[in-house]
Amino acid sequence: MRVLVVEDEPRLAQNIGAALHDGPGYAVDVCHDGEEALLYCATADYDLVVLDLMLPKKPGQEVLRRLRQRDGATPVLILTAVSETQKTIDLLDQGADDYMTKPFDLGDLIARARALIRRGKGVRQPALRLGAIVLIPADQTVRVGGQPVELSPTEYRILEYLMHHPNAIVSKRELLEHLYDFTWEHHSNVIEAHVSNLRRKLRSASESAVLENRRGRGYRLTSSDEASA
Ligand code: CA
Repeated sequence: MRVLVVEDEPRLAQNIGAALHDGPGYAVDVCHDGEEALLYCATADYDLVVLDLMLPKKPGQEVLRRLRQRDGATPVLILTAVSETQKTIDLLDQGADDYMTKPFDLGDLIARARALIRRGKGVRQPALRLGAIVLIPADQTVRVGGQPVELSPTEYRILEYLMHHPNAIVSKRELLEHLYDFTWEHHSNVIEAHVSNLRRKLRSASESAVLENRRGRGYRLTSSDEASA
């Protein structure tokens, strides 16, 4: 999952970015003003935008309005000051999904980020299921055919993304863009190795869990074993 943090206070921006990266393992891009935010959103496809309201160049409200004009789906979590409560409530009418009042607890932020991403993907239940594969984002555990499977953080993130796109071919580029920040091109060579480790671990847990590599097209996760899910 890839998250954009838009916050002009450098230390707060850094702390939020680190929390979302170290906790749930999201790829995080950070920018510091409203114009940059729109540029980032035009360039990358985010799974969540954390958006401060008081920003240089363009206010958060304007960023939200422009974002909603072209993309209704990306969840937006507003960061706000106590004095802006009424404005924040208006923003929920204008397409923001949730808000937090500063100062806030970073653990609370992570919990809300997780909930919004689940909702944004149309998955309301806490566990993601595909045939024999069950992934629980809350504690980052994976079971295949009822057996726990130990994954590295990168393998977990690959599986989480593919579980959100079951049976679909996901291109290598799409996967990279959602796993990493703007450095994603540097990871292009190692992703194959992570995918192949993940494939092996899934397969050894259940023959039905198949992670295909469609050469030149991308990756496809399927699991036919509905019964043991
Ligand atoms: Ca601010």
